[in-house]
Amino acid sequence: MACCKERGETEPVQGIALEFCGVCGVKAKKVNRITVEQILESEHQNEVIETLYHYCETPICNVVYFSNETGQYFNKNDVRVRVGIKETEDPVQICYCFDFTEQMVRDDLITKGHTAIPEFITTEIQAGNCACEVKNPSGRCCLGEVSKVVKRLLKEREGLAAGERTFEPACADLRVSSSHDCCALKE
Ligand SMILES: [Zn+2]
Repeated sequence: MACCKERGETEPVQGIALEFCGVCGVKAKKVNRITVEQILESEHQNEVIETLYHYCETPICNVVYFSNETGQYFNKNDVRVRVGIKETEDPVQICYCFDFTEQMVRDDLITKGHTAIPEFITTEIQAGNCACEVKNPSGRCCLGEVSKVVKRLLKEREGLAAGERTFEPACADLRVSSSHDCCALKE
């Protein structure tokens, strides 16, 4: 029993638990073989065999899929999509079935103050138009991840708005009679 180990027992190297990424050491979720097959670059597709694959979700870890049973590790370079959770630069893909990116949510929030992307995805899912199992590297529905991103970006916007409010008076005090928009109005 792993939780009750005593007498200085150590884990044999070969005995690394199946669900832990051997690179970042974080527990990963199981992923279906069909997902691995579809997401891998074509040159790696025939390497997919009958084994238990896991999907590493650690943002800073390069590993995407692994099997500790076979020792196979597939990295970001081995897959045909950009794995959104592992990217910080645009485009950061958040929905693979309908091609939404983080920037699209951000643009919605800037121009409209809200986004209908989660509703759109929900409607499409209900209509049976999504194919997360073969398009999303996680093999799971993106909606949870999309909602998280929307919440995070909304917070980011609120933070910005608060910043703008405190900035305004200072700007008005400048009373610069230049072409600087926000100050030109104050005589
Ligand atoms: Zn990892």
